[in-house]
Amino acid sequence: MASPKLSVIIPVHNESANIAPLCERLLPVLTRITPAWEVVFVDDGSRDDTLEIIKTVSQTEPRIGAVSFSRNFGKEIAIAAGLDHARGDAVVIMDADLQHPPEMIETFVERWREGFLMVYGQRTDRSDETRTKRGFAQLFYKLFSRFGEIPLPEGAGDFRLIDRKGVEVLRTLGEKARFSKGLYAWIGFKATGVPFVVEERRFGTTQWSFRKLFRFAFDGIASFSTVPLRIWTYIGFLISFLAIATAVFFTIRTLLFGTDLPGFPSLIVSVMFFSGIQLMSLGIVGEYVGRIFAEVKRRPLYVVAERIGGAAEVSSDIVPENYRMRRA
Ligand code: UDP
Ligand code: MG
Repeated sequence: MASPKLSVIIPVHNESANIAPLCERLLPVLTRITPAWEVVFVDDGSRDDTLEIIKTVSQTEPRIGAVSFSRNFGKEIAIAAGLDHARGDAVVIMDADLQHPPEMIETFVERWREGFLMVYGQRTDRSDETRTKRGFAQLFYKLFSRFGEIPLPEGAGDFRLIDRKGVEVLRTLGEKARFSKGLYAWIGFKATGVPFVVEERRFGTTQWSFRKLFRFAFDGIASFSTVPLRIWTYIGFLISFLAIATAVFFTIRTLLFGTDLPGFPSLIVSVMFFSGIQLMSLGIVGEYVGRIFAEVKRRPLYVVAERIGGAAEVSSDIVPENYRMRRA
């Protein structure tokens, strides 16, 4: 079989109920576009029978393959593994839960043929989400566009098509704290958005808790901005200046009017305030140090336990071959 022209990467974590309905809807769409397609499932350490189901469909349709992780590494890493194993000239990334309508891929491919190297699905309405979640998403985009080093198209997620050229660049980015949305924007290239409406999750529930989302947002900002690290210099300056001004004020007042030892509460308040500030700034520094630590350990991004179908042709060894050296 000639190498596929179109690859679809689907990260899956405990999605056994979704695999069959997904394939039913996705495969006809792919076949309409080109017979030279492949699907690469990335089984992100599922504990249900997701992998067995994929194996079964792979036996009847050899264009469906899979990479299976030794444990759960997270969606971002699963996408990275998908990019390592996809062989298409264009690579589509989508979720397994049918929230990303497969029919959109046709539009993606059209735009790609027009010459766009990156075509992203842009969600037009987020009314399916809770108001708090939407509020935080908005705040995140605001913060990111203000402090991040690159602009992030709003409403653009992982559902997208990337040209081989972009895929190869993404593969050289070996960072551990992966914020894919930022990386897609960072690599540049001619990009365009296609609006779409996110559908209801088919089976199961979302695996993103509020805590995970918060962590993810922080990763995003911290990987693309050093402002949280630098801002403390300015806050420090400001506070020192205020402290000097206060000291001058009290000195003068004491000289003029004497003192009767008031102000004990304000002393306690200021001590608490400044220990808070210090702990916070220390914590921010710690976040970055933690990231540096994660990077210098130079562990592979993921460990593959098994490869199925076309994905197996990329590499057959169990030992992580994806040890990425930075191309200096
Ligand atoms: N996913 C994954 N690893 C994880 C969590 C999720 O590969 O640790 C996959 C999941 O199977 C799905 C996609 O990522 O295909 C999106 O997950 P989910 O629907 O939970 O996220 P949401 O749509 O709420 O953003
Ligand atoms: Mg989902």
